Amino acid sequence: MVVELISVGTEILIGSIVNTNAAYLAEKCAALGLSCYHQSVVGDNRGRLEESVKVALNRSDIVILSGGLGPTEDDLTKDVVAQAMGLPMVEDAHSKERIQKYFDKIGAKDITSNNWRQAMIPEGSIVVDNHNGTAPGIIVEKDGKTAILLPGPPGEIRPMFERDIQVYLENLQELRFFSYMIKVTEIGESKAEMMIKDLIDKQTNPTIAPYAKIGEVHFRITTSAKNQEEATEIMRPTVEELFRRFGDKIFTTKEEETLEEVVVHLLEEKKYKIAAAESCTGGLFMGRLINVSGASNVVGESYITYSNEAKERLLGVSKETLEKHGAVSEETAMEMAIGAAKRAHADVGVGITGIAGPTGGTDEKPVGLIFIGCFIKGKTEVFRFQLRGNREKNRDNGVVKALTVLRQ
Ligand code: ATP
Ligand code: MG
Repeated sequence: MVVELISVGTEILIGSIVNTNAAYLAEKCAALGLSCYHQSVVGDNRGRLEESVKVALNRSDIVILSGGLGPTEDDLTKDVVAQAMGLPMVEDAHSKERIQKYFDKIGAKDITSNNWRQAMIPEGSIVVDNHNGTAPGIIVEKDGKTAILLPGPPGEIRPMFERDIQVYLENLQELRFFSYMIKVTEIGESKAEMMIKDLIDKQTNPTIAPYAKIGEVHFRITTSAKNQEEATEIMRPTVEELFRRFGDKIFTTKEEETLEEVVVHLLEEKKYKIAAAESCTGGLFMGRLINVSGASNVVGESYITYSNEAKERLLGVSKETLEKHGAVSEETAMEMAIGAAKRAHADVGVGITGIAGPTGGTDEKPVGLIFIGCFIKGKTEVFRFQLRGNREKNRDNGVVKALTVLRQ
């Protein structure tokens, strides 16, 4: 890992004080096995400091800054780092309490308001207690980069480094990222996110990142840890909480596994053959099943019956049903499912019929209405869904609905 040092303070720049902090930190970092390719000194100037911080964060993994953490107006380090890393400043209750205690201890009566600035930290950062002064040290991690902000006075920076920072850097070098995947179906993206909004809002470690696909939401839980075992322990409460909230809507926790794979494996396990009769999805459903290697164990043949005539001729859907209820109806979906299973000598038949749009909808049967008939070993059931996408989305979503129905 590459570390870089920035010493902040105009007095260093003009030579009034010798930069002993940089020498101290450089030696410590080298001893820890960190490579240091750059050191710089910047005055107490917002623009120039921000420029240096950005350059350093760009080319190094860890940036250690010293100085400018105090309570006065020229102490800019925290603000500038927060800005460079795109984080808001928030008040840290723990630091506030410690500052109060510190002043109580030294018997100071009126604490000037600027002292409370020292309790402001970049959101999500780690606060390192200062046992020899008021300005706490701060560790900020974002996007794989770390900024470590330390106080300027040597009597503060050294004990802080030896007590806490050193251990942190040792651990950091050993840490790797681990993640766990939870894939959910049957719940829309916004609802799924709402269901765990509280967890996402207060997350620090591990983090939960949602990702939406048509008809599915994937949650990646990520943590940094020394090994898989430790990572599993860190992630366990979050994983368990997601299982409590999403329950059987979770269809897999395997990174690579798709919904169609889950369905094919389920059918394989039960030794069932499947056939489909597809109208609005026009073969997309079977296409997805056949994408799965091993599909030949469960699929023999399947039908695309777009016209009424084809539904009658190939699947034996009755004229009366089509005339009385229409092609997009519970009854037709059911007869399609049964017809497909019978004709293909399959154990499972799926009938998919709907109005993909953009035209063809009525008040009674709007665009996006889809029926999925399901025949499994003599048992039948029909599902009705109202989708809300364009033609392409409705067809894709119809396929997901059919897969979801089969998973149950
Ligand atoms: P304070 O709370 O004292 O303001 P600070 O974190 O804001 O601390 P500075 O104001 O930048 O730090 O510096 C405070 C003092 O610490 C300086 O006057 C100087 O004596 C010492 N100091 C700062 N930077 C260095 C350095 N790089 N090397 C040696 N001493 C330093
Ligand atoms: Mg200062």
